[in-house]
Amino acid sequence: MQENLHVRHRNIWYPFTPIKGSPTPLKVAAGNGAWLELEGGKRLLDLISSWWVNVLGHARPEIAAAIYQQAQQLEHVIFAGFTHEPAEKLAEKLVEKLPGRLNRVFYSDDGSTAVEVAIKQAWQYWANRGEKRRSFICFDHAYHGDTFGAMSVSARSLFTDVFKELLFHVEHVPYPATWQGDDTVQAKETATLRRLADLLEQHPKRYAAIVIEPLIQGAGGMRMCRVEFLQALHRLARQHDTLLFFDEVMTGFGRTGDWFACKRAGVEPDMIALAKGLTGGFLPLAVTVCSDAVYEAFASSDPAKTLFHGHSYTANPLGCAAAIATMELLEQKEECFKTLEQEHSKYLEPLSAHPKLDKVRIIGTIAAMNIKTDERPGYLNTVSATIKHKAFDRGLLLRPLGNVLYLMPPYCITKDELAWAYRGIASILDEL
Ligand SMILES: *Cc1c(COP(=O)(O)O)cnc(C)c1O
Repeated sequence: MQENLHVRHRNIWYPFTPIKGSPTPLKVAAGNGAWLELEGGKRLLDLISSWWVNVLGHARPEIAAAIYQQAQQLEHVIFAGFTHEPAEKLAEKLVEKLPGRLNRVFYSDDGSTAVEVAIKQAWQYWANRGEKRRSFICFDHAYHGDTFGAMSVSARSLFTDVFKELLFHVEHVPYPATWQGDDTVQAKETATLRRLADLLEQHPKRYAAIVIEPLIQGAGGMRMCRVEFLQALHRLARQHDTLLFFDEVMTGFGRTGDWFACKRAGVEPDMIALAKGLTGGFLPLAVTVCSDAVYEAFASSDPAKTLFHGHSYTANPLGCAAAIATMELLEQKEECFKTLEQEHSKYLEPLSAHPKLDKVRIIGTIAAMNIKTDERPGYLNTVSATIKHKAFDRGLLLRPLGNVLYLMPPYCITKDELAWAYRGIASILDEL
């Protein structure tokens, strides 16, 4: 990799990037379908949908046109005391696609703020009903974003360590992560469910909500759980009268092979957060959608019962227009996210016996596997950089999370492109 081709920009502080020792960022000139084109002409097949947002690929002309059209009509307006067609239309489209109970759409800007909104809604839901609930139940290895509430409900990790005194206390339980051929999954699920039942029985009025990334934990290492576990979790939440919040910021819009992970699991949570795929990767926009029951607890003229939350760009009409166009494209071609699971299986099956691979797992459009190394597993494992460089040399954009290699391509990737990507991965593994 030519790391000194461009000098790092002297006025920019890049996210999630150690300032010393990191390679210089690659300058991207254009995007098209599943491909990125770098300045100088090199092309990369984007196997991570650019931080998991470009569900339909880069620079989709239909989405670009929708934004252009909306920009000529109304670019933005305050969303308190005012409303507009794109926000109303998008809310209706979302509610139509979501499970029946999820009816009330609250707009914000990104995944972290959508999680903040859900935390506030859950907390104040109980307060408005005259009950004080003081904590949340969350999962080990969870990642819910970088703002303080979102960090608090996330796992305690390298990402949050320096801020730990500022985070509010939550109860963490193990996520029963599983993979192909895992014969311990039942035992892990039973242990977690027992721990949850104990917490809820011992402290019946302590927990405002259970917070989970359904079917797959993203940044925590692409850790997948079973549908059966989510169904049991849902029963437990009902039985003990606590709210269930699904953070579907990553899993929304086809990622798990259905429109939403809750749909694939056949579970209706009380609240859901959506962001990454919402605008097809074009503009920052997010929503928190809750049930009528949650909303009703705020239905009062008493200002103390109002949800005082909002952002200057809340329900930005351009973002809403991009989201409507994205949903229409997904509706027209649902098979684009429904068939990728089979494709991954086809290529991963022969590869899964590779001596460097462990814990192969697939859900919908996402495939993940652990790389065996002598180093400690986790985000700082250096095999990540090795694979990233070898992939770059082959024209593949991969960005392993430590020793977890994953593919999360845009749905427009062709069979030939995916086959080529897996051939590249096989040869990288042979070189390790
Ligand atoms: C990315 C992510 C977030 C945070 O979203 P941002 O848009 O980066 O703030 C929250 N939850 C999950 C599950 C995510 O993957």
